[in-house]
Amino acid sequence: MTTTVQLSSATRVADMFKIGIGPSSSHTVGPMRAAALFAARLEGLPVARMTARLTGSLGATGRGHMTDRAVILGFQGYAPQTVPADVVADCLRLTQERGLIVVAGRDVPFEIDRDVVFEPRTLLPFHVNGLVFNAFDADGEELAHGTYYSTGGGFVSEQIDDGHVVSLDALPEDAAPEPFPYNNAGALLRICAAEGMSISEIARANDGSGEDLDQYLDLVHKTMNECIEAGINATGILPGGLNVPRRARRLREQLMTRDFERGPSWQSSNDPMAGIDWVNLYALAVNEENAAGQRVVTAPTNGAAGVIPAVLRYYERFVPGADRDGVRRFLLAAAAIGAIIKANASIAGAEVGCQGEVGSASAMAAAGLAEALGGTPQQVENAAEIAMEHSLGLTCDPVAGLVQIPCIERNAIAAVKAINAARMAMWSDGRHQVPLDTAIKTMRDTGKDMLSKYKETSEGGLAVNVIEC
Ligand code: SF4
Repeated sequence: MTTTVQLSSATRVADMFKIGIGPSSSHTVGPMRAAALFAARLEGLPVARMTARLTGSLGATGRGHMTDRAVILGFQGYAPQTVPADVVADCLRLTQERGLIVVAGRDVPFEIDRDVVFEPRTLLPFHVNGLVFNAFDADGEELAHGTYYSTGGGFVSEQIDDGHVVSLDALPEDAAPEPFPYNNAGALLRICAAEGMSISEIARANDGSGEDLDQYLDLVHKTMNECIEAGINATGILPGGLNVPRRARRLREQLMTRDFERGPSWQSSNDPMAGIDWVNLYALAVNEENAAGQRVVTAPTNGAAGVIPAVLRYYERFVPGADRDGVRRFLLAAAAIGAIIKANASIAGAEVGCQGEVGSASAMAAAGLAEALGGTPQQVENAAEIAMEHSLGLTCDPVAGLVQIPCIERNAIAAVKAINAARMAMWSDGRHQVPLDTAIKTMRDTGKDMLSKYKETSEGGLAVNVIEC
């Protein structure tokens, strides 16, 4: 029998905002974590060979998402949040040149083409992103095996031998119970009303990280801004063979000089919509960094990593009175909404399409901005609902299996959508026809009905209609 361990809406802020590397949380961060967890079990064993089978969506788009590199890094004990950039960059080349990897302190012969197998047609029972790892001794006898699932957003589950699947991100059984438990947005709003608290205050109280929480929120904020700056300063062509040029740096140069070059026009900074250009810039910068495999914050996934930083930077730059407290409240409210979406639908493109990735990020960003603007819990929930409602049906169809087209621009569009949703909600009194829970349920149902070719397999949509050159 196979069972699911459902994460509750108590998912911690550190789970919703993981610091990792690009280009994909489900196809890079999760597999790397799974491989590292497996390798940690091999301490002291006479390992002479390691193999990895990547099934389902990991098999279909794993090459473009660098899943093979992620698994090799994980086998060698690297973690997404701390692995140095040069180790990531050199991993495949060095493995090929040396013909070995280092697992639990031992040199293990490794041939990438032989030992990492992509199996797009194999579907394991629990989830479309499956990983099967094996370790053998010098006689070919199996020393250990493990079946893992990368369930989106960097979350990992493991199938244990009786067939049960356990989340490796669940709170420990002896964790203190959250003071304000809820499983959906309606229940959260009722708690806010009963306690006279905001959504960010409830999220803070439930997180359980105590004083460390602000430190982590500030680290997330800093990492997001560093990613924007890195993306703005980088040039060149993104890896993977699609020949997609980075655009952020050029766009910034244009935005910085336009006042001096242009008279009154849509390109002038006097244009009332000029702020959109900056929001686009921030999102492009982050997603170009993600596509290049650089350090990003999973928010709630890597493919959607640009939306929240772009909206957060908009808040800091364009909202008078923006401050650190507002940034923290933004992130807390966004995490609360992301956890509700994850608990009741999915944040994985391989399960529900891009509505679960970029749609969720847009809803989280809208909620975060409304919270930072001083919105009531109803307005915050309404902002998230608007952004989610108008992301319904969004398919996942990355060209060549790379997180570039349509992903990079899509983040910019979703960031602007989030700002619009927050503004629309803030102009209302919070009352609205469609509850966020209904939009989330609709997203889940739509994802179930979506053909698999639109769920991170690169077998439909733009992935088959765009000519690769
Ligand atoms: S299309 Fe959306 S869900 Fe699919 S890889 Fe790109 S960002 Fe992720």
